[in-house]
Amino acid sequence: METYTGIPVSPGVAIGEIYLLETEERSVPARPIKAEGADAEVARLDRALAQARADLNELRSASGMGTEIDAIFSTHDMVLQDPTLHAEVAGLIRQRLMSAEWSVAQVFEEWIVRFESLEDQYFSQRASDVRDIERRVLRVLLGDRTREISQLENGVVIAAHDLTPSQTATLDPQRTLGFLTDVGGPTSHTAIIARSLGMPAVVGLGDITSRLQDGTLIIVDGNRGQVIVDPDHTQIRRYEQIARGYERYRSELERIRDYPAETLDGHVIRLLGNIEVTTDVSAVIEAGGDGIGLFRTEFLYEPGKPVPSEDDHFDAYVSALRQLAGRPLTVRTFDFGADKVTPDAAMKQEPNPFLGSRSLRLCLERPGLFLPQLRAILRASGYGTVRCLFPMVSGLEELRAAKGLLEKARVSLRAEGHYVAEKLPIGVMIEIPSAAIIADLLVDEVDFLSIGSNDLVQYSLAVDRVNERVAHLYQPAHPALLRLMRHVVQTADNAGVPVSLCGEMAGDILYTMLLIGLGLREFSVPARAVPEVKQVIRNLTVEQSREAAVWCSEARDTAEVLERLREAMNELLPALS
Ligand code: PEP
Ligand code: MG
Repeated sequence: METYTGIPVSPGVAIGEIYLLETEERSVPARPIKAEGADAEVARLDRALAQARADLNELRSASGMGTEIDAIFSTHDMVLQDPTLHAEVAGLIRQRLMSAEWSVAQVFEEWIVRFESLEDQYFSQRASDVRDIERRVLRVLLGDRTREISQLENGVVIAAHDLTPSQTATLDPQRTLGFLTDVGGPTSHTAIIARSLGMPAVVGLGDITSRLQDGTLIIVDGNRGQVIVDPDHTQIRRYEQIARGYERYRSELERIRDYPAETLDGHVIRLLGNIEVTTDVSAVIEAGGDGIGLFRTEFLYEPGKPVPSEDDHFDAYVSALRQLAGRPLTVRTFDFGADKVTPDAAMKQEPNPFLGSRSLRLCLERPGLFLPQLRAILRASGYGTVRCLFPMVSGLEELRAAKGLLEKARVSLRAEGHYVAEKLPIGVMIEIPSAAIIADLLVDEVDFLSIGSNDLVQYSLAVDRVNERVAHLYQPAHPALLRLMRHVVQTADNAGVPVSLCGEMAGDILYTMLLIGLGLREFSVPARAVPEVKQVIRNLTVEQSREAAVWCSEARDTAEVLERLREAMNELLPALS
């Protein structure tokens, strides 16, 4: 039995067998297979080589490449058909009883070393071609393994070096009990999606996956960030009890689903939901949410496919509005780049993607990408209560440019005879410190503000939100953040402009009292957090929250703020602390 500690990113307990999922960016770990499974594994290899050839040939015919490039790919195709390659990999599978992906990686590694050591420059440079072919085959094998999960009889615990947000979104919740990764931070999109799927998850576990084997029993404790490999009976029993306790807590929360999110002294707080796809709308409504405060529309784009058309956007928004039946839908425009999905053709590799041409900046550079979305938002405004939210605004110039494009879209739609609602409320995310500081200027030109604490913390503290090495420095309770938020909320209040908070901090009940004390009256949280936050709201008073916010503001460092919050929470809901 071995215990590892990482970063808890999605609560709950998962107990099950490990299923190693790897990505081709990293060396593939040794995954043993059973002797009777060797034939099936070689057949898997055959299918993967055939699929890799088919992918390659599709690329050759689709891209109309020049003859020189075509000649390179034709060599790749020959390598994929090479009987020596097949014989060497199949030999390793049968003799060493190892997975096809591990055997492919071993054979290619040897070839690469051989090529690189050749004196002749032409041949030594061919090593990168060999690497490219290896990646192509591994991609098929590893993707194939992701698909296999849906055919498993029992649920498994996924272990991976890293999971992209889209990989996480496609994990089958019926078969995936939970997951763990070597890297990642608490507000990465992988973590956010895990929470919205209700999948216990721990990230930032170092190199744990290189020490795990398929099929070993493992416990993932998404509340405490612990992972126990090969637990003994006592641990299993203990965790089964914790899991039952957590389930009880969740079902108690269901009781208050239809009650208002009202404080003991009668202040009603608006609780909206965050969604990545329109099918999540029902989860928010079922959880008792008052509407959608953040629709992360970049997830409409599926990697490898064309960017969504105006009609794709329109259909998604109208489908959400129909489910919402009069409740509001806040459509945040594309927030591509950095930790999120990227339309490959539109993005260049940049040395520092978080600070580069992403999100609204990218949209403003490419009206061809942006205008279809703006037109669709305006068209959808005739079908329900729609609000338009611009991300990553750093100053008035960007806001004005975005509003200018929206106006252009409105004029063209009207000229084409489309109905467009008279008034479309416009908001900006406050997620860059400059935007927080000039909140007084922004409120004159928008209808609402939405604080994006995930990025506001990252950009204010200079801490990468997805880097596990600095995760301990990623602190929403830092006194600087409290000052920034207080400033934004007070500025918005003075101007009579509504302000909400839609970062993950809003869904963490440790902060609910502080945030209400700072003056916030609207939150947008993942569906699963709606009842949790509501329960806390229903047990506190605004007066008490104001006092808590004052003590926290007097604290000199993060540890002190957290200590005060834990004490306050302990008094409020002792059972939860
Ligand atoms: C945020 O930054 O707080 C936010 C809600 O946006 P995202 O997590 O999508 O960057
Ligand atoms: Mg953000």
